[in-house]
Amino acid sequence: MDAAVDASTSQFELNEEQRAIQEMAQAFAADRIAPSALDWDRRKYFPADVIRETGPLGLGGIYVRDDVGGSALGRLDAVLIFEALSHADPGFSSFISIHNMVASMIDRFGNDEQRQRFLPKLTSMEWLASYCLTEPGSGSDAAALKTRAVKSGGDYVLNGAKQFISGAGDSDVYAVMVRTGADGPKGISTIVVPKDAPGLSFGANEHKMGWHMQSTRQVIFEDCKVPAENLLSGEGAGFGIAMAGLDGGRLNIAACSLGGAQSALDKALSYTAERKAFGSKINQFQALQFRLADMETELQASRIFLYAAASKLDRKAPDAGKWSAMAKRFVTDTGFKVANDALQLLGGYGYLHDYGIEKLVRDLRVHQILEGTNEIMRVIIARALIGR
Ligand SMILES: Cc1cc2nc3c(=O)[nH]c(=O)nc-3n(C[C@H](O)[C@H](O)[C@H](O)COP(=O)(O)OP(=O)(O)OC[C@H]3O[C@@H](n4cnc5c(N)ncnc54)[C@H](O)[C@@H]3O)c2cc1C
Repeated sequence: MDAAVDASTSQFELNEEQRAIQEMAQAFAADRIAPSALDWDRRKYFPADVIRETGPLGLGGIYVRDDVGGSALGRLDAVLIFEALSHADPGFSSFISIHNMVASMIDRFGNDEQRQRFLPKLTSMEWLASYCLTEPGSGSDAAALKTRAVKSGGDYVLNGAKQFISGAGDSDVYAVMVRTGADGPKGISTIVVPKDAPGLSFGANEHKMGWHMQSTRQVIFEDCKVPAENLLSGEGAGFGIAMAGLDGGRLNIAACSLGGAQSALDKALSYTAERKAFGSKINQFQALQFRLADMETELQASRIFLYAAASKLDRKAPDAGKWSAMAKRFVTDTGFKVANDALQLLGGYGYLHDYGIEKLVRDLRVHQILEGTNEIMRVIIARALIGR
């Protein structure tokens, strides 16, 4: 049995349907992503065609209702999918996660007309989606955002810029958090902006450490006109919509760390079983065995914690938000550490691109920063513990 399959199923009872979902995602990852992941990374190539292949598999609207083509699955199901995809490529998996965040925001907060207009094309992956919250002057303090939308006749006119937007320029629709009212969270709204909206443009692709297969650009609004019927829910509802998207997104990004780190551990296990030094296989050195033992223990603890947090979200448990934050913090920190430990076990070869581990270390580093930094996760957890 493949190590990843064994690791994912042995510690948590999955039902038959969940096992089938997991196997489907693992097969797609092995056949369609893994063989090209290093090449995409090297060439900074966005594989839109392969991403679109996930639509017919039901991955364009994993937890979107089925009347608009969604798969109507749960958060634990989603975590299994992202873990499996990221075993092949965390960047690919993360892009699918962001797309799903937007699809679920429209599903939950859109009206019937909006759901019918956007979701069939998003769930099929004919259209790809990006999530636009961060601005040049506001990241962690997202409620300080300044991009303004002013109602003018039947349109909103947007001015401002979003920073670090994943998939910008490649995506077809953008869920944009804008200010329609006073300062603070209550003055924020969410508008769905199509790529061809007049006045919308994109900055240069950022040179970044990892996630090379997807673009990261500014999204710029200069008197950008968007039909008023693209406003989700009412004016002032946007901060809640953005945070609802992130609750699931945080678990997904943790799953992306888990899958990537499992892949690094699997590579380290294979390598240390072959490599010789001082007359023996290096996996016979106890120092190295202990490190492998710790990596396995830390990943299994992460897996159980993450699955438990996803189950809480599925059950709408009152403390699900705190658990999402705890799982995001713990699993992304652990995932990065395990991947970095795996690199060390390969010695100099771990530092070479062709061995695949340095890419995993680079890719997993950003998971500690985005979807709320791990410091902000601690802020959320502490607030839940001791109040504001
Ligand atoms: C590759 C990449 C892709 C991204 N994709 C997207 C995307 O698709 N959409 C999107 O909207 N955003 C995206 N982001 C933005 C990301 O969410 C932000 O970078 C992140 O939220 C942090 O914001 P900041 O960079 O402005 O850092 P800041 O908020 O300026 O934080 C700087 C430091 O201060 C710490 N800090 C801030 N406030 C506190 C506090 N109260 N207590 C303790 N520490 C604190 C932070 O943890 C951090 O260490 C992406 C970022 C990257 C790097």
